[in-house]
Amino acid sequence: MKQTYAIIGLGRFGGALLQTLVANGQDVMGIDINEENVNDYRDIATQVVVADAQEDDVLRKLDIASFDHVIIAIGHNMQASILATINAKDLGAKNVIAKAENHTHLRVLTKIGADVVVQPEREMGERVARKLLAPNMLNFIELSDDYSMAEIQIVNPVFYGRSIKDLNIRKKFGLNVIAVRHDNEVIVAPEASYTLQEKDIVSVVGPKDMVDDFDQITN
Ligand code: ATP
Ligand code: ATP
Ligand code: CA
Repeated sequence: MKQTYAIIGLGRFGGALLQTLVANGQDVMGIDINEENVNDYRDIATQVVVADAQEDDVLRKLDIASFDHVIIAIGHNMQASILATINAKDLGAKNVIAKAENHTHLRVLTKIGADVVVQPEREMGERVARKLLAPNMLNFIELSDDYSMAEIQIVNPVFYGRSIKDLNIRKKFGLNVIAVRHDNEVIVAPEASYTLQEKDIVSVVGPKDMVDDFDQITN
């Protein structure tokens, strides 16, 4: 589905975001105070604007409320990040995602009404640690404090040639297998009779500690 995005701040974070969204067919306006940074995206973005997003009228003139998503990707200049976020929310922007540089910044952005606050360095640090601790966990989503969903590659040959039913994954681990990736085919909601094969990647959902146990045992 095509949606509209305004990205304020075209540093490494905003730039990567813009490129990925455009590559996936989305409508993206990029805004930066620095003309050189804007020029890097002139031929990529749907539209680019050189402007200071902390000034009162700038976001109003760009009709910021008309975008499905507004991403504030200014890190260093905390004042600019905070003012751009306040301006966007005051003007009625629906979904404002703001990038925080540190925990204090995160608290402020949350308080002034950012809908989502991300802290990329911290989140990536956790992700890399998780990857080191559980190399076969290809993807991990925290559903709540207690539940998670993960994509786990089955490396332990003991599991090859055995069915989901035979392995009793639901009873033994309290996990539900929601999909299996075999070669390049994805089998959604596999039958209990599905037999695991070498290199299969299973998507499981359930209690976090059980997801970790399953990752260890299939390793
Ligand atoms: P990254 O880590 O994404 O590279 P950063 O966290 O180091 O970025 P900055 O370099 O401070 O953050 O800001 C990112 C971008 O935001 C820069 O390209 C900068 O020019 C732009 N920017 C800073 N202040 C403003 C502002 N007031 N209005 C618009 N853009 C701004
Ligand atoms: P149950 O009430 O245990 O589901 P059932 O006869 O409906 O009984 P089957 O669907 O035949 O069960 O599966 C047998 C066993 O295989 C289940 O008891 C469950 O432990 C496990 N199982 C089936 N499907 C899954 C799945 N998607 N993920 C994890 N375990 C599963
Ligand atoms: Ca940075």
